[in-house]
Amino acid sequence: GSAVTALEQLTRVVSDFPSAGVVFRDITPVLADPGGLMAVTQALSVAVTQPFDLVAGLDARGFLLGAAVAVHTGCGVLAIRKAGKLAGAVIGKDYSLEYGTGRLELHPDDVPAGARVLVVDDVLATGGTAAAACSLLIQAGARIAGVAVVMELVDLGGRARVEAATDAPVVAIC
Ligand code: 5GP
Repeated sequence: GSAVTALEQLTRVVSDFPSAGVVFRDITPVLADPGGLMAVTQALSVAVTQPFDLVAGLDARGFLLGAAVAVHTGCGVLAIRKAGKLAGAVIGKDYSLEYGTGRLELHPDDVPAGARVLVVDDVLATGGTAAAACSLLIQAGARIAGVAVVMELVDLGGRARVEAATDAPVVAIC
């Protein structure tokens, strides 16, 4: 569809970012393009067939996409953030990723009991980020409706790691 076309035409490939040997797929040019942003938002909104009533965006590009999907689908949005950024009481989870380690945090008080959550991010690489986000949401009492990403780097095997954290479908636009 038009989302795939926009991604193919506008994604910027950056070698050795953020560290030597990493080939970074930068989708910010897609988001800066009005047609690209709309196409990607629509595609993420329908990627998962399971119903959801809340969207979770992953720090940091997932915030942009998650908010767009939430408005587009009439849902609220949660920010799952890197450590130390959220003001309220948090739960956190350490994880490893393609280039280093990190910790994600969530405000559990913002998650209604039993909420069905769509997890949104730009790129699924090793899957550590999305798996940690799913674990946090489940710990907060949510159910995962699915994980929707713009791009999956299939060689890194991230899908299996996410599927170990949740039974929900993992869907990539490309
Ligand atoms: P993972 O935890 O799956 O290894 O890494 C995914 C996280 O790192 C996502 O939040 C994503 O934004 C970021 N990331 C890793 N590799 C890339 C990449 O090549 N391009 C972009 N845009 N983000 C990446």
